[in-house]
Amino acid sequence: MSLATATIRTEALRHNLAIARKAAPNSSSMAVIKANAYGHGAVEAAKALAQADAFAVARIEEALKLQQGGIDKAIVVLSEMLDAEWVEACAEHGFQPVVHDTAGVEAILAARGLHQMVVWLKVDTGMHRLGVVPDDCARIHGQLSACPHVNEVRLMTHFSSADKDEDTATEDQMERFSQATGNLSGVDRSLANSAAILSHKQSHAEWVRPGIMLYGADPLPTANDLSSQLRPVMQLQSHVIAAR
Ligand SMILES: *Cc1c(COP(=O)(O)O)cnc(C)c1O
Repeated sequence: MSLATATIRTEALRHNLAIARKAAPNSSSMAVIKANAYGHGAVEAAKALAQADAFAVARIEEALKLQQGGIDKAIVVLSEMLDAEWVEACAEHGFQPVVHDTAGVEAILAARGLHQMVVWLKVDTGMHRLGVVPDDCARIHGQLSACPHVNEVRLMTHFSSADKDEDTATEDQMERFSQATGNLSGVDRSLANSAAILSHKQSHAEWVRPGIMLYGADPLPTANDLSSQLRPVMQLQSHVIAAR
């Protein structure tokens, strides 16, 4: 008899992605499957989430595992420490790196003779984890766009507290993002994590990045119409070995 079994319901994954798409019907969706799909199995999750427009992972090694597992959709690499070798790996495999610091920008600019790549530039609007400062956004966007092996630069930011009520932090971040990026036209943008997808329509832009909601967890302090439709993906079963 096994001690504990985790059962993953792939139909719940599909259902939860459909909720994200319903919440943000005019946005493309980048399903976040970092950290082994939050512990649910990255390759299997990616296969179940075939309706996503792209996948996002934290590190290049996770992207390589997905590709080796037969996933051929666009993969965004959210938080790699980019150096010359990793930039080459992204170009070779068609991954879309997120540039979040000066070293990463320099690594991309210095690379030569590569395949064309899509690059995301992350702006720190208040999360204070990763990203360039808002004042540098337009300049770095220009540098990257002028790079012969970069065929598109997209813009991203990450919210610190979209899962909290009674807090203007998310609105403040949206405002800072729009100030930093507003003069750049025709550029794809992405701001929203699960909580913002479910509660901040104005943040949806061209791309949304659902993570925790795909696995059935409601990030909101109080469920709303959409978040109450999420279904749990993992069921953990075990046996009671004693009762007192
Ligand atoms: C993890 C992550 C997400 C997904 O966030 P959730 O709150 O789980 O929806 C989105 N964007 C980035 C950059 C992340 O690191």
